[in-house]
Amino acid sequence: MYRSHTCGALRSEHIGTQITLSGWVQKVRDKGFMIWVDLRDRYGITQLIFDENRTPQDVFKSAQELGREFVIKVEGTVIEREAKNPNLATGDIEILVSHITLLNASLTPPFTIENETDGGDELRMKYRYLDIRRNPVKNNLIFRHNVSMEVRNFLSGAGFIEIETPYLIKSTPEGARDFVVPSRMNQGQFYALPQSPQTFKQLLMVGGMDKYFQIVKCFRDEDLRADRQPEFTQIDCEMAFVEQEDILNIFEGLTKHLLQQIRNISVSEFPRMTYDQAMRTYGNDKPDIRFGMKFGELNEVAQHKDFNVFNQAELVVGIAVPGAASYTRKEIDKLIDWVRRPQVGALGMVYVKYNEDGNLKSSVDKFYDQEDLKKWAEATAAEPGDLICVLSGPADKTRGQLSALRMELAERLGLRNPDEFAPLWVVDFPLLEWDDESQRYHAMHHPFTSPKPEDIALLDSDPGKVRANAYDLVLNGNEIGGGSIRIFDKDLQATMFKHLGFTEEAAKAQFGFLMDAFQYGAPPHGGLAFGLDRLVAILGGQETIRDFIAFPKNNSGRDVMIDAPSAIDSEQLKELNIKLDL
Ligand code: ASP
Repeated sequence: MYRSHTCGALRSEHIGTQITLSGWVQKVRDKGFMIWVDLRDRYGITQLIFDENRTPQDVFKSAQELGREFVIKVEGTVIEREAKNPNLATGDIEILVSHITLLNASLTPPFTIENETDGGDELRMKYRYLDIRRNPVKNNLIFRHNVSMEVRNFLSGAGFIEIETPYLIKSTPEGARDFVVPSRMNQGQFYALPQSPQTFKQLLMVGGMDKYFQIVKCFRDEDLRADRQPEFTQIDCEMAFVEQEDILNIFEGLTKHLLQQIRNISVSEFPRMTYDQAMRTYGNDKPDIRFGMKFGELNEVAQHKDFNVFNQAELVVGIAVPGAASYTRKEIDKLIDWVRRPQVGALGMVYVKYNEDGNLKSSVDKFYDQEDLKKWAEATAAEPGDLICVLSGPADKTRGQLSALRMELAERLGLRNPDEFAPLWVVDFPLLEWDDESQRYHAMHHPFTSPKPEDIALLDSDPGKVRANAYDLVLNGNEIGGGSIRIFDKDLQATMFKHLGFTEEAAKAQFGFLMDAFQYGAPPHGGLAFGLDRLVAILGGQETIRDFIAFPKNNSGRDVMIDAPSAIDSEQLKELNIKLDL
């Protein structure tokens, strides 16, 4: 037997008991006549004591040879600790060891296995198995497990069935590149790894499964922006005989359940906002509504004066930054430099200080008097003490720039409190999105999303105006879920493919199976998927999803621990009949 208890279990009520523990040596304190060892396992730390006078000689000698991360088994008696440690669950007791077995020695670990480690990111990833021994990483993985369990409890309780779908499939368009896998048995042919189980879950609805979910890996070969992983996990769901309202209700319920169970926070009904409103009010389709700074459009009150920059702009728009009227000239200049960085791309910024005494002082006083600026303050809901920041230019671009500024200022002002949760639904997304590079429309969500019936007529005349039955769940400025009501009619699906630039043959080759299925009594259906990694990180009050993944990839998509991707040997290539042209 390796253990009678774990290293987190023993308390003063166990004093006098004979026990067996196994674990890792966290720390050794050797005082010569007395040796203390902190023994660690997943459950905690227990102090062992070896005393020259009370411990058998050979056992004492073995203790002298212990090093960090050695794996040992000890037998002994629970005794009361003289100097109790109130910070440790087992801090009232220690183990007077009578037997010790060295189960495995360890090299000195390349970084300290403590809550605060001296190991840098790359090093910790290379030795991730050691990193996982550290409390912060271990606790994050346990936290993730708890979230997954609550997801399963809730959905299973609501009648959903978890069904696995294949990984070796054919391309599913979610807007990224596919990872491909060559087939040995079908030479010259390739599988694609699923960007999501989208088509399969729709086929499950045709199959009558009615309510499906799956906690599932998805694979997308994208240029890795910060905090993205080429393989990530979704809570993927689909339901039949539902309208948008049914889906929003169920998954609002799931989100509330998670906030309640995991964080003990109850939130009331989620606000809803159309995509259009979100863009106009926050310049962003995933607005962080934990704080205000709503956009005020200023065209009416700022144009038709002598300030040509504004007169020529499609949009003049501002935000009131709370309490920032006291910013010095230097601070404001820095802010202007910030919006002019290429990543943001504004040409400049006009500002108005709404001083505490009610006086308004702007960088464009030459063109606008107090009366004019008062109207700006009204439009941006500014209060005395606020700083109004105004950008202008092409509408979409300018909104994006002001959104970036709004988020940056919120960060600086400490308005993004990770322990506050502000979910909302963004609905009525556009169906199509113009892509400058390919000079054609792309599906904003994916090609299976249904247009709003009342907008179908616009498909030919004004495709960019067509709204979709598509929705996103947004939490604290992050899109944590998204989905849509699907097309379930073969002809409408064919029309959709046509608008996306597929020839009839191409659509048939790629998605014929789905359109075929639609001819055999496909029910109305819809669904959504949550990004589990991000959801878990946000629920955990943190930003980085890598911290909640056992074995994440780095920013170049590499696993530095197992060294993947890597070359394969020529035998394997030959079997696959693949020649490299490098
Ligand atoms: N398959 C979609 C995605 O991965 C989600 C959905 O429409 O259900 O974003």
